[in-house]
Amino acid sequence: MEKLKIAIQKTGRLSEKSLQLLDECGIKVSNGDRKLKTEARNFPMEVLFLRDDDIPQYVEKGVADIGILGENEVWEKEKEVDEIEKLGFGNCRLSLAIPKDEVYTNLDYFHGKRIATSYPKILKKYFGVKGIDVKIEELGGSVEIATGIGLADGIFDIVSTGSTLIMNGLKEVEAIIKSEAVLIANRNLKGVKQQLLDRFLFRIRAFKRGLGSKYIVMNAPNSSIPKICSILPGMKSPSILPLAEEGWSSIHSVVQEDQFWDVIDALKDVDAQGILVMNIEKMIL
Ligand code: AMP
Repeated sequence: MEKLKIAIQKTGRLSEKSLQLLDECGIKVSNGDRKLKTEARNFPMEVLFLRDDDIPQYVEKGVADIGILGENEVWEKEKEVDEIEKLGFGNCRLSLAIPKDEVYTNLDYFHGKRIATSYPKILKKYFGVKGIDVKIEELGGSVEIATGIGLADGIFDIVSTGSTLIMNGLKEVEAIIKSEAVLIANRNLKGVKQQLLDRFLFRIRAFKRGLGSKYIVMNAPNSSIPKICSILPGMKSPSILPLAEEGWSSIHSVVQEDQFWDVIDALKDVDAQGILVMNIEKMIL
């Protein structure tokens, strides 16, 4: 039987979250013995454990059909692959940083400067568009030490909390682009492989929707129902069930995480009582 081959990071920041995502999609994989590849037990999928910066190449060549990795690597490698879905983890930004005692004015500061990075293509493109001439020093890793040892005047690197920069006497002066983990796919998937990818994507989207939503239940006097319904966004309209107590109802709805506190504040003002909030595991539209 044909299988969908997925490449995920072998060891590193994205590996555990990638396996967790498969698990949330009901795809059971074990990699207890740290093999290079393994098969899912209950979905036609083969999982390849690779270095994340090699994944675009493997997916372009069709060694893997799909892959999970940081967008930063997809942009840097410039391979012929499709970015199918953002996955909501591995969030970081690519930033320019300089020694903390330097005075920074604006981007023109970098004219003629040497910048160390593991992302030369992204950086070259960025300064090319801005018309600023910089010298790029390409490094495989430990970029943040480049200024301290006199190799460069600034760095261009991944930042999430910024603590690595501070520890190395640097300050972030420009956040250039945001990145998160994405699902990429080979451009020539057809037939069974495409169907399997569609099934996998359907599950990913149900999980992501669930993550961004809360299920809320509350009690209210029937006279408040119209006001409450006008506050609740819901998937269609709220469900309203009569309570044993005459003249009262229980109202159920789904609220997006980003609107959640505003909705709760508004509900408190219109007689909603005993509001319960629950996480949603999956949401199928
Ligand atoms: P690793 O090779 O284990 O450092 O994982 C690197 C990938 O994780 C990067 O290419 C990014 O997509 C993502 N990532 C997210 N936050 C960070 C961070 N603070 N430092 C390095 N990588 C990060």
